[in-house]
Amino acid sequence: MTMSALGEPCVLLKLGEIVLKGKNRELFERRLIANIRDALQSLDLKVDVRRRHGVIAIFLPEGASAEQAAAVAERVADVPGLVWIHRAWRVAKDPDAVLKAGLELVGESEEAKRGARFAVRSRRRDKRFPLRSNELDRLVGGAINDEYGLPVDLKNPELTVSIEVDRDEVFVFTGGIPGQGGLPVGSSGRALVLMSGGIDSPVAAYRMMRRGLHVDFLHFSGIPFTTSESIYKAYALVRKLDRFQGKSRLWVVPFGKAQQSIRTSGQDRLAVIAQRRLMLKTAEEVAHRIHASALITGDALGQVSSQTLANITAQDNAVDLPILRPLVGWDKTEIMAEARRIGTLEISELPDEDCCSLLAPKRAETRAKIEDLKQIEKRLDAEELCVQLADSIQEYTL
Ligand code: ATP
Ligand code: MG
Repeated sequence: MTMSALGEPCVLLKLGEIVLKGKNRELFERRLIANIRDALQSLDLKVDVRRRHGVIAIFLPEGASAEQAAAVAERVADVPGLVWIHRAWRVAKDPDAVLKAGLELVGESEEAKRGARFAVRSRRRDKRFPLRSNELDRLVGGAINDEYGLPVDLKNPELTVSIEVDRDEVFVFTGGIPGQGGLPVGSSGRALVLMSGGIDSPVAAYRMMRRGLHVDFLHFSGIPFTTSESIYKAYALVRKLDRFQGKSRLWVVPFGKAQQSIRTSGQDRLAVIAQRRLMLKTAEEVAHRIHASALITGDALGQVSSQTLANITAQDNAVDLPILRPLVGWDKTEIMAEARRIGTLEISELPDEDCCSLLAPKRAETRAKIEDLKQIEKRLDAEELCVQLADSIQEYTL
């Protein structure tokens, strides 16, 4: 990246839903900027993150390379709250400088080499700039057309040159990468995800991070009756998801013995749902200890017998905290596509010995009665058991 006519390299970020916020917008933006700074710490590059009239600009240190700018853009593309990430050039507020930058950007682009149809789109956030948007469009568009002979196509361009006039500078860029959308992590509070090694729960975690929750992860392993494989999987999944929020923690509960007592204490057909209630009760106890105010699961209505409406009702009844189920209305194919997109699918599909396989009745109850479940829990002394389970928890930090 040469320091030629292009000015200084920077990365320009477009905010998502935050722009709909009224009085609280300031708070959300400050949270978002803090999250962006945290995310960029791993790059070991001194950047300057600034608010600019409804956008955020990341200025790179002098002499930063194209690779470094690309690394910054790629890293922030994982931070919820942003809808577009543009690698841009910051130039002086002068039509001539803008023109030069536009020409050089197009000259360097792959699209120009294959004679792509192009458009210039200008915006003035500062109305004092001497040229109006359409005048700037025509100035830069005309010059590009003269210099490279590219055809203009305003409706359906293959290459768009964007020009954004701000208070102190002008940003010029082509292209961009889509962000995650949603709200800044932390702006909605904290929650605890019940994380199996399966496909659904990592997707559920991701969807709720995108709604502004910072999440902790809780995994129930069948230890001592299963191997530690499911823990490794949960750990790998948490590592994969950490790029969206940072500071992730995985908590593991050795659940095998509790499962064994469930098996010996009630009707076979109720075992799965009784176990799910015990997981939820334990999760609630853990949530109180870590100040999380909701539980999250990967349930989807009707996907398996434990997720019928009656059984979901029986689960809600086990705890006072709200259980958030972002995937409740999703098809398995939709969940899998999302898991592939966020990179968790290949980990989830690795074989493991899930603790649930310890309790696989021939026929599971689809309409569990809450009274029957409470009987089982009385025999188990579930209230005491979930405190013990929460005491036996192990923490894994990344
Ligand atoms: P997943 O793909 O997330 O494992 P699933 O379709 O296999 O989901 P279930 O096994 O019925 O469905 O689990 C439903 C939800 O219960 C999971 O999404 C998860 O939130 C929670 N859960 C199940 N097993 C565990 C476990 N071993 N540890 C923590 N949470 C679990
Ligand atoms: Mg599962």
